[in-house]
Amino acid sequence: MSFPLAGNARVKDAVTSMISLRRIPHAILIDGDKGTGRHTLARYIAQAAVCGGENAPCGECRSCRVAKSGAHPDITFISPEEGKKFINVGQIRTLRAEAFVKPHMSKRRVFVINTAEVMNESAQNAFLKVLEEPPEGVIFILVSLSASELLETVVSRCTRLSLVPPDINTAVSYIAENTGYGSELIAAAAEETGGNIGAALGILSDGGGEKSDTVEKFIDYMLAGDQGKMLALTADIEKSRIDSEIFIKELKAGLARRIRKIGMTGDTAAKLSEFYYSLSEFEASLATNINLGLLFCAAVCRAAEIYSR
Ligand SMILES: [Zn+2]
Repeated sequence: MSFPLAGNARVKDAVTSMISLRRIPHAILIDGDKGTGRHTLARYIAQAAVCGGENAPCGECRSCRVAKSGAHPDITFISPEEGKKFINVGQIRTLRAEAFVKPHMSKRRVFVINTAEVMNESAQNAFLKVLEEPPEGVIFILVSLSASELLETVVSRCTRLSLVPPDINTAVSYIAENTGYGSELIAAAAEETGGNIGAALGILSDGGGEKSDTVEKFIDYMLAGDQGKMLALTADIEKSRIDSEIFIKELKAGLARRIRKIGMTGDTAAKLSEFYYSLSEFEASLATNINLGLLFCAAVCRAAEIYSR
C-alpha cells in the first residue's frame, strides 16, 4: 500500500523508513489541523505495525484485511466515552492493563488515542507512567489537534509527526485522483480551504453548500450591526482554545462563501472581506497566550466597527 497522504514529504520519509526498518517508535504523536489526514496516517501506521506480510502494510495478509475492516483485535481506538467530553483516568487505567496482555493475532499491539488533547490532566499523568516504561511490542499513537494542549512530559516522549495541508495544486490532483468531482468544483473547494483535503472533501460532499450554523448566524448579526448577539454567540466558543481556532477558520470560510454568493463588488462584500483579512491577525494571536474572551471581544468590535463605517 502506498503512503496515504498528499504532500507532507518529510513525514512521508520518516514514516516510510520507520516501517521499512521495522523500527516503529513506541510512542507517536500525530498533530495537525482537522482534515490534514491525522486519522488516516494513524490507521496506516497501525496497520503496518500489525501486518504479517512483506512491505508493510501489504494490504493483503489476514492481519491487514482485518485491520482495514476496523476490527483488528490488536488495534484499540480510544475516544471519550459516549456523551463525555474528556478521556478519563479510568479509560487510561484500562489501557494500561490491556497493554500488558499479549497480542492476539500479530506481534504487536497498537493503541490509537483519538483526540488526545481531551485526556484530562489525571488521565495524562496516568498515561505518562505507561509511556515511561512501555511494555514490549506496544505502540501508542496519539492523534491531536494541538500538541500544546498536552503535557510537555507526554509530548517529549513521543516521536512527533506534524501534518500540514499540501499546496493547493497537490490537493487538487489528490482529490481528482481519488474522487469523481468535476475539476472546477475541486479547484474552488481546494482554494477555499487552503489545500486542506479533509475540509475540501467536506465542502464537496455538501454540494459546495452550507456549513456551520453558528458561522452563518455570526455573519448575519454582523450585517445587522448587532454586537450583543455576536458576543453571545462566541461566549461558549471562547471557553476552549481549540473551539476558538476551529471557529475562526470556519468563519473565514463562511465569509468567503458569503462574498462569493453576493458577488465580489459592492460595499457589503468589501466590508466582509476587510473583516476576513483582519481575522488572520486574530488567528495569529491565538498561538500566543492571549485571553480568549478579550480576543473575541476585540474581533466582534472590529466587525461592528467595519460594518458601521
Ligand atoms: Zn499485511
